[in-house]
Amino acid sequence: MNKETLCVQAGWTPTKGEPRALPIYQSTTFKYDNSDQMARLFDLKDSGYFYTRLANPTNDAVASKIAALEGGVAAMLTSSGQAATFFAAFNICEAGGHILASCNIYGGTYNLFGVTMKKMGIDCTFFDPDMSDEEVEALIRPNTKFIFGETISNPGGNVFDIERFANLAHKHGMPLIIDNTFATPVNCRPIEWGADIVTHSTTKYMDGHASCVGGVIVDSGNFDWMAHADKYPGLTTPDESYHGLTYATAFGKMAFITKATAQLMRDLGSIQSPQDAYILNIGLESLHVRMRQHCANAQAVAEWLEQRPEVGWVNYAGLPGNKYYELGQKYLPNGGCGVIAFGLNGTREEAIKFMDALKMITIVTHVADAKTCVLHPASHTHRQMSDEQLREAGVAPDLVRLSVGIENVEDIIADLEQAMDAINK
Ligand SMILES: *Cc1c(COP(=O)(O)O)cnc(C)c1O
Repeated sequence: MNKETLCVQAGWTPTKGEPRALPIYQSTTFKYDNSDQMARLFDLKDSGYFYTRLANPTNDAVASKIAALEGGVAAMLTSSGQAATFFAAFNICEAGGHILASCNIYGGTYNLFGVTMKKMGIDCTFFDPDMSDEEVEALIRPNTKFIFGETISNPGGNVFDIERFANLAHKHGMPLIIDNTFATPVNCRPIEWGADIVTHSTTKYMDGHASCVGGVIVDSGNFDWMAHADKYPGLTTPDESYHGLTYATAFGKMAFITKATAQLMRDLGSIQSPQDAYILNIGLESLHVRMRQHCANAQAVAEWLEQRPEVGWVNYAGLPGNKYYELGQKYLPNGGCGVIAFGLNGTREEAIKFMDALKMITIVTHVADAKTCVLHPASHTHRQMSDEQLREAGVAPDLVRLSVGIENVEDIIADLEQAMDAINK
């Protein structure tokens, strides 16, 4: 089925007499007839529900909708995008391991890999995607477990060359993990370009209404863990906490998500609540319609910004002549997302003056929902970073992140215009 149909129909297929809308299974636990039935679930010999920290039918329906949209074999919902990134990484990278991540990524991921996971004995090197293959390969170590990048970077709007880095990762016997939050599977399916694992902050376009924090991990099922058994012992050697079961041999293509659920979610517990999964599903039902409007509005706003004398630069891959235009045409032929990065001529103070003059458009930490919003990362989300770290992460100190919503574009432009006029006063 086409993506538009999957957005609406996938995941929950009721049979006779069952609710048409996805029900919220608001239950921590599930009933069985005898002790042996339950024991088989704990041994992973049967599949079924027993405790919502590990699995819940509402969550599973939404996860399988997202897996279908991404073209993966299985998915797991998490309580946040941060949890999704951490679980995806930690599932295959333990103490002594090394991560190779693009420097153009979300600030929270930059901190997770560069600071917090370092305390767990995991090293990370950030690379500039503009480097040559040889330069990137020189950063790969024998203990490097995966390469990581974002389809469209938050907040810079840079487009990642997924196919190129998938080939590079595979040449060195490791998977490519892609954070596909901004593009969504409506506009890009990284697995089709060779990515092995896809993560999302569902908090953004998938939910789409700034209602629920959440995340998801999707596995393509394509990476052959047993072919690189020495590098991924967590998947290829017995797990003592499950009577010596080996995920890669016992579960084949389902190994990655099964381990993430049965081991990491069991022990670290960052499940999405079934209520939130239900709301996320309502968001997903209109994802394809909203993304079309976000992209059309953002394209018009980006073209308008480019013409304004107050604006020093605009980064939006849909603009002909943009550094990422060709990559955008390849990976995002129907549009990228509603987020535009731009800089105003003049000082940081002028950026703040401009934002404070906005009326309909609000200053919020959030991004990528129906309501147009704006943020100055250097003063807000990324304020813990030094100027050098900011530049390394592709965030210019004057960068304004404008998240174009799905209102009438004339009203969005009118608000931007009056705020630009206000800085001139
Ligand atoms: C927001 C975001 C995250 C983190 O997600 P949360 O849901 O806020 O935890 C990760 N990656 C990207 C690209 C994001 O925009």
